[in-house]
Amino acid sequence: MSLVILDLEWNTAFCKELNKYVNEIVEFGAIKLDKKLNIIETFSSLVKPTVAKSIHPHVQKLINIDFNELKKAEFTFPYVLDKFADFLGDSTLLTWSNTDLHTLIDNCQLHFMDENLPFVKSYCDLQKYCEYSLGVSSSNRMLGLSSCAQILGFVEGENQSHRALDDVKLSLKCLKALYNRRHFEEFVEECDEEFYKKLTFKNKFITNINNPKIDRQQIFFDCPECNVRCVRKSKWSKQNNSMQAYFVCPECKQSFKGRVQAKVKYEGVVISKKIINK
Ligand SMILES: [Zn+2]
Repeated sequence: MSLVILDLEWNTAFCKELNKYVNEIVEFGAIKLDKKLNIIETFSSLVKPTVAKSIHPHVQKLINIDFNELKKAEFTFPYVLDKFADFLGDSTLLTWSNTDLHTLIDNCQLHFMDENLPFVKSYCDLQKYCEYSLGVSSSNRMLGLSSCAQILGFVEGENQSHRALDDVKLSLKCLKALYNRRHFEEFVEECDEEFYKKLTFKNKFITNINNPKIDRQQIFFDCPECNVRCVRKSKWSKQNNSMQAYFVCPECKQSFKGRVQAKVKYEGVVISKKIINK
């Protein structure tokens, strides 16, 4: 089974028909790898914009592409996507974080009203794999490609290029450095209905403590000094995305604010707790 690493560059543009900003893909860059992770084929194409009239100033700082260069591009998104689908074939698709997948889906919706990517059979999130391999996985902080390359000693400072093909080659360097076939294969997902449900699931917060989805067994605070269970002294109140209440320690009588965040993820409700202004 071969692998294809894909990186997309996109521009932000206001779409009148949809009456919202869209991330319009402007470049595809991909490499196909054999079992030993050698590059056997390269895919690179600019995409002629159909929505944007210029490159958004915020985007221009990130990508090294000139709008005139884009206007001269030969093909629009549907054609380039078709060519990319041929290039991918039965290979497993890899991208650095699933943001590229989301953008690909958004562009398919924009052009074909299609919410899935039927040409993708299997997928691996390279960011997740590298986070796992480096032992830096965290739900709050994502490992950027440049950070990963820095940790591995491939680049000094920020990676400035942000052209699709340069980014996939840097991703490959990271993958090669951290590759363990058995572990890697556990990160490859089949792109079935379940995969898309999970991918497009929108995380939400519960801000009512009485919501039955919250496991009340988990809602407690122990005094950080005495390690005994504290007693709640106030009603729960909503604070942005979280809930908070005052607690007091029965031993040392210290009081503090306890904050609870309940995030509804595809996998279930994740509770995180924090003691503030102790
Ligand atoms: Zn105490």
